[in-house]
Amino acid sequence: MSYSKPKFQEKYGNYINGAFIAPVDGEYFDNHSPVDNSLIAKFPRSKDADVKNAIAAANAAKEEWGNTSVAERSAILQKIADILEEHLEYFAQIETSDNGKAIRETLNADLPLAVDHFRYFASVIRAEEGSASELNKNTLSLIIQEPLGVVAQIIPWNFPLLMMAWKVAPALAAGNCIVLKPAEQTPVSATIFAEKVGHLLPKGVFNVIHGFGPEAGKPLASSPNVDKVAFTGETTTGQLIMQYASKNLHPVTMELGGKSPNVFFNSIMDHDDEFLDKCIEGAVLFALNQGEVCTCPSRLLIQEDIYEAFIEKVIARTEAIKMGDPFSPDTMMGAQASNDQYEKILSYINIGKEEGAEVLTGGEAAKLDGDLGNGFYIKPTILKGHNKMRVFQEEIFGPVVSVCTFKDEAEALEIANDTLYGLGAGVWTRDAHQLYQIPRAIKAGRVWVNCYHDYPAHAPFGGYKKSGFGRENHLMMLNHYRQAKNMLISYDKNKL
Ligand code: NAD
Repeated sequence: MSYSKPKFQEKYGNYINGAFIAPVDGEYFDNHSPVDNSLIAKFPRSKDADVKNAIAAANAAKEEWGNTSVAERSAILQKIADILEEHLEYFAQIETSDNGKAIRETLNADLPLAVDHFRYFASVIRAEEGSASELNKNTLSLIIQEPLGVVAQIIPWNFPLLMMAWKVAPALAAGNCIVLKPAEQTPVSATIFAEKVGHLLPKGVFNVIHGFGPEAGKPLASSPNVDKVAFTGETTTGQLIMQYASKNLHPVTMELGGKSPNVFFNSIMDHDDEFLDKCIEGAVLFALNQGEVCTCPSRLLIQEDIYEAFIEKVIARTEAIKMGDPFSPDTMMGAQASNDQYEKILSYINIGKEEGAEVLTGGEAAKLDGDLGNGFYIKPTILKGHNKMRVFQEEIFGPVVSVCTFKDEAEALEIANDTLYGLGAGVWTRDAHQLYQIPRAIKAGRVWVNCYHDYPAHAPFGGYKKSGFGRENHLMMLNHYRQAKNMLISYDKNKL
């Protein structure tokens, strides 16, 4: 099977009230593919007026949508999953074109996970039961979950379709209408999603607004006419969005950045077997999705007595990563998502070198042939240093891992928790005590033990510390998109 950039229209509109609409002031921006820097299409450079139109459409639809039965909403979510699955290869090629990630990842991870997300939320809402309690013989307390109304959702460019699914599936399942703003770097998959599944939803229930953060994102997050703001992106942007939403006292959920530790204890080397191979794969996962993952295991902590033997294997495995054409099915690492991101990563590699970090492998851009030479490719890079360096403390969001050693459990924990962030972490060990106690002591919302980068829909995901708050995935997400109504009913004929 061969894959390539699909054909696109020259220009797309915002998706408002069930139709594609030109921006009010007629301004568009060019969207390029990071694979080879070729033009994909033009997208609306939306402003306040466009955002207001989308919010008005969502408000007009919210009463009716909020009153649909759980069975109706579940059936629609199932159909959305079916359509995504039917067009899985098409969406995978769109995502690879727009983001630069390898097609084997879009085919095997981004798309199947997005499909499963819609199926999961279609199912859990059917299984939910309410709650009633008899406060005394004559008084009943009923708790009913009601939708919030209109939710603003602002998402990043690293998993455009999957981040959209993480937000859209639970919000629709809970009975809300949506105004979604995709990242300006990756506007395509949300648009084609609207094109393919929009007809399943009543007009105004799902709206997509394109454009830049300060021009389109800010009026959306600041609007008094939405009922919640859900955000995924950088910590500094999250701080701004909280300020906008706080003026209206609107609830927010924040899925922000990370600097995740991946901790390898010496028991992993006890036997030279399949488990050790799994550990080596786990260490190399810093390069998954070109390192553009919020939970990228970007700090590698290795117990000092196994350091030499283990890092040698990790370097060899890193150097075997096949980089190149993202559309080739055997490519493991594709292009960084944009020129800005490419420049930022290279500048961090230089910062690391200036700080005195040793480059164990990589440390530079990868030069590819032909049209790919215009794209944005960086070699997977391992830097050896210490945890006070900027490359250990700041989110690079690229295929760069910073490695250091630790003596014992106490030092491993001290280094692992010495970060502003608390999104993900990995612990690798064969020691039963460490298996449980180390993850318990790491301050992060998701700790993988003897695995990494698994994102099942039914396990809650989210940050501690400056990585945000609120959770995505899992049925607990539904309550981030609902409010509890308590009905207190008296059956007493006489007394108040
Ligand atoms: P970003 O913060 O630059 O942009 C995210 C979104 O916010 C985009 O749609 C952007 O247009 C919008 N935006 C920017 N400025 C805005 C403003 N002033 N007002 C309103 N909207 C604004 O982030 P990014 O570079 O697109 O994504 C990378 C970041 O996302 C990384 O920090 C990564 O860790 C984080 N991330 C977190 C998770 C998670 O689940 N915790 C998942 C994926 C990515």
